[in-house]
Amino acid sequence: MQLAHRMSVLGTETAFEVFAKAKALEAQGRDIVHLHIGAPDFRTPDNIVEAGIKALRDGWHKYTPANGLPELREAVCEDILRHRGATVHPDDVLIAPGGKPTMFYAIMMFGEPGKEILYPNPGFPIYESVIHWSGATPVPIELREETGFCFDAERVLAKITPNTSLLILNSPANPTGGIVPRAELDALVAGLEQHPHVTVLSDEIYSRLLYDGEEHVSILQYESLKDRAILLDGWSKTYAMTGWRLGYGVWPASIVADAERIQINSTSCPNAVTQVAAIEALRGPQDAVEEMRSAFDERRAIIHEELNAIPGFRCTMPKGAFYAFPSTEGTGISSRDLEERFLHEAGVACLSGTSFGALGEGYMRFSYANSIENIREGLRRVKDSLQPA
Ligand code: PLP
Repeated sequence: MQLAHRMSVLGTETAFEVFAKAKALEAQGRDIVHLHIGAPDFRTPDNIVEAGIKALRDGWHKYTPANGLPELREAVCEDILRHRGATVHPDDVLIAPGGKPTMFYAIMMFGEPGKEILYPNPGFPIYESVIHWSGATPVPIELREETGFCFDAERVLAKITPNTSLLILNSPANPTGGIVPRAELDALVAGLEQHPHVTVLSDEIYSRLLYDGEEHVSILQYESLKDRAILLDGWSKTYAMTGWRLGYGVWPASIVADAERIQINSTSCPNAVTQVAAIEALRGPQDAVEEMRSAFDERRAIIHEELNAIPGFRCTMPKGAFYAFPSTEGTGISSRDLEERFLHEAGVACLSGTSFGALGEGYMRFSYANSIENIREGLRRVKDSLQPA
């Protein structure tokens, strides 16, 4: 077989690999604490599950329009107005099978050899992977612990060249739990006025998971970017629906049909039953969203304290999402070796910071989408495994 050359440059999301390794160890009888997880550990709220079951019974068994059900696209617009204060047109919403397709479509639409795409590093690994696949050059935006893992607007703007086609932002962020404060985004957007050739993809999939009263600042709130901002969001994290596979993009009116064309070429349309359930998610009671957020908040304080009690670890307080990203430099062990050691010796699955880009060396990602009991047990094991024998 002769695979196309492009397959050699496609990366992956190592969370899935660690998950497979952890499952293999469990199959051999090992007890593993899962702190690598990128999905809420809660069940999808009952009203949404019931809506999905009813949709199946009601005969939602066929294709839907490629861009999604009109009623769902309207519900998305209502939700955006409610939570972001921005008015968008249902025609500019493309419902997709997860949040990831919006990222994939945008990068493939703007990336090609000779183009440069700016992306957060450490950041969600799929950005860099798909940028490589598109043939474009990935240009990292360094996120540093000293600045709460937020970019410096001036430094980002300085990296823009005439070849820059896309700038990817992610707040609240995976893997760092960092957020972009309004002032920093204001500065970036003001600077972007000098660079009208740059489109912005804002991955706001964790927008409802914020703590300490932090406000979510959305790219859709900036009038000057109206014609060149793409918003990515979805149901996975907010409604604990990762397995249902549904997300959406809000696209500039001039290119939404191009994105839809990629969808038609690849997946036709999102799952019909999931779309009906997603209408209930947006229009039904929202209590469960706050209950999950507040459970994450409680665990956040615990994981932060426990991580800082491990010799060689130093953890800043995450402000959003459900990840802690401690520096592990003080252990003197590389991140990849720690990932292996914690999994095989301590029975704890967590991720090397380098799974999120080269600038993640010296860090590890621990997810707190797990019970307080498991978080405490996992970190006890991590601590013990670092004690001199
Ligand atoms: N964006 C970020 C930053 C993520 O962390 C994830 C999932 O972990 C996604 C997008 C993908 O979300 P979905 O599962 O809806 O495709």
